[in-house]
Amino acid sequence: MTKFVPDLDDEALRCLVESLTENGQAVSLFDAEDNLRYANRTYQGMFLGDYDGPFTFTGIVRHAARNGLGVRIDGNDVEAFLARTLPRRRSVPRKSFETDLVDGRWFWIDHTVLPNGWVLSVGADITALKRNEKSLRQAHEAALEASRTDPLTGLPNRRHILDLLDGALAEDAATGAGLSIAVLDIDRFKAVNDAHGHEAGDAVLRHFADVCRERVRDGDVLGRMGGEEFLLVLPGAGPGQASAIVDRIRDGFPPARLDGEGTGLPCTFSAGIAESLAGDDRSSILRRADRALYAAKGEGRNRTMIGVATG
Ligand code: GH3
Ligand code: MG
Ligand code: MG
Repeated sequence: MTKFVPDLDDEALRCLVESLTENGQAVSLFDAEDNLRYANRTYQGMFLGDYDGPFTFTGIVRHAARNGLGVRIDGNDVEAFLARTLPRRRSVPRKSFETDLVDGRWFWIDHTVLPNGWVLSVGADITALKRNEKSLRQAHEAALEASRTDPLTGLPNRRHILDLLDGALAEDAATGAGLSIAVLDIDRFKAVNDAHGHEAGDAVLRHFADVCRERVRDGDVLGRMGGEEFLLVLPGAGPGQASAIVDRIRDGFPPARLDGEGTGLPCTFSAGIAESLAGDDRSSILRRADRALYAAKGEGRNRTMIGVATG
């Protein structure tokens, strides 16, 4: 046992509280009747400003809300805030929570109810941590988005469109609503690169993606499989409807206008369609669509073929 533990005298108490203030912590102490018995400088700056009383919890909260001080209150409804907060103020002996202030700072609050009903609240400024958390979250979301997106066209990239196909196949297996896919491949695209350069080729790819995006239904998904090949996932569509959607893309397809060229480049594509069959996975359905695409190329291009299941 320690032989000598000094009592908490006034000087020790003052130093204790002062050091909490120097730490940047916000300290307040309310008695059992919710009168403010102590508030350090940080807390005063947060809630009181030039307030001259009454120094009750409700008085202080109302004053802060009126004067743009204190915690941020949903919808600025201070009475609803008090109605929510008051019954919970002494419901548990200890709780910790984060709260944001009207001025944009965030505090981590340790709220302690003493056996005599007094409430001690110590808040630590966590604004910098929250900023860090937010920028990390934003960076994470941006990286995730980039990992799924084809940078040239802004469409889902190969990996992502195949994931979306998996999801659509699972949905179809569960609901039986039907599903078709179409693989679209620009005709004689290499000739565009050869005649006009790679950048012109890129512009044609962007143009192609934009036109397709505009002409599909809500809920259809389009992705770039690679090169000049695109995959269209058409939930709920049978082969006839899929064929009609592809026709709608093809009809009057606007020529790609390259910088400084008035005439524009005609742009045709071939398509292979496959309808989902029981037990399909991404490879089996893509195989049928690819075979149909190959047949469409063989038949002279600029057309759509529907794949059939072979034994
Ligand atoms: P087909 O009608 O048989 O489909 O002929 P095609 O010329 O369209 O097909 P092929 O597969 O022979 O050539 C595709 C070309 O696409 C070859 C490749 O250099 C080009 N390519 C692939 N990715 C890109 C890209 O991101 N940008 C550009 N500009 N060209 C690309
Ligand atoms: Mg091609
Ligand atoms: Mg190709």
